[in-house]
Amino acid sequence: MNMPAQTQTIYTGDQIQATPVISQLNVADLEPGRQHRFFFEAVQMGTGQHWYVPVVVAKGMQDGKRISLTAGVHGDELSPVNAVQRIMASLDPAKMSGTVLAVYDLSRPAKEYTQRNWPTAQGGGGLIDLNRVWPGDIAGEDAPTRHAGLIWHQLFQPNVDLALDYHTASTGDDFSLFIFADCRQPEIRQMAELFPVEQIKDDPGEEGTLEMAFIQADIPVMTIEIGGPRRFDLPKIEKTVEGSLNVLKHYKVIDGAMGHTSKSAGTFFGNSFETIRATAGGFLELRVDLNDPVTPGQEVAIQRNSFGDIVAKYRAGVAGEVASIARDALREPGARVMRILYNSEDIRT
Ligand SMILES: [Zn+2]
Repeated sequence: MNMPAQTQTIYTGDQIQATPVISQLNVADLEPGRQHRFFFEAVQMGTGQHWYVPVVVAKGMQDGKRISLTAGVHGDELSPVNAVQRIMASLDPAKMSGTVLAVYDLSRPAKEYTQRNWPTAQGGGGLIDLNRVWPGDIAGEDAPTRHAGLIWHQLFQPNVDLALDYHTASTGDDFSLFIFADCRQPEIRQMAELFPVEQIKDDPGEEGTLEMAFIQADIPVMTIEIGGPRRFDLPKIEKTVEGSLNVLKHYKVIDGAMGHTSKSAGTFFGNSFETIRATAGGFLELRVDLNDPVTPGQEVAIQRNSFGDIVAKYRAGVAGEVASIARDALREPGARVMRILYNSEDIRT
């Protein structure tokens, strides 16, 4: 039986830097036992050319789970790129059962300038967070929404059984090696526990994220935060690669002994964040750092004005661990100072 036309891989006929351009992917019609490289033709720019998204498919000899690895929904988050490249380089498709789909630089214009958000020209210029528009809309009212819609419908949805979305903190902030996982789903919890990360938060997900689009499509998914932005954090990258390969082994995509997991790493689990925000403008002096345990009432930061006077003192309200923290010392009122991961008796926040 022939595949329905709308699910075939569509080659536009273009090549960029000797790499074929596709506007739709179906991994089922690719040759097994090798890696394939494409540029995915996504939304057009204002001048009429397209943004092209790099795609690598490791297609196993045997059928099996189809797992996506995404690096670059935010443009200033670079450790994910290195982690996914390392995972792909370690795969031998001739020995694989299943498919691994790596997608890089999803927010292309943001990536070009190492910035979080996608710059748009309309209305005098604006910035759009690509991780708030999923699953997108191919008839949407701005280019990033259409871009997400094209990627969702023509790349992810037809080809993915299980998804790992890699991020870091944004510029000016820092993160532990951390996983957001909807642990209400046993399969997702089990997958998260295969990573030797520092912290795991049971988290229902946030509307508009790529993670939420997969959840709503009944595709198990997690968001992995590989530390801070703009650089390669090798120790965290190596643990991310180890956990990701554990997932591939768990689903029999590859063979091999399990590496370190949350159990051997002594991962701290929580279900809530206490978010401490600046009550004043001024310069922050941190009294704690990432992964530090804190107790209620403990002073975690102070803030001074330009004269050096203390304008605010910040205290933990819960017992937990520091998960994310401000690295830019200047904080505007309302800006996040840190997030403390803890366990709430009540409900997840
Ligand atoms: Zn991100």
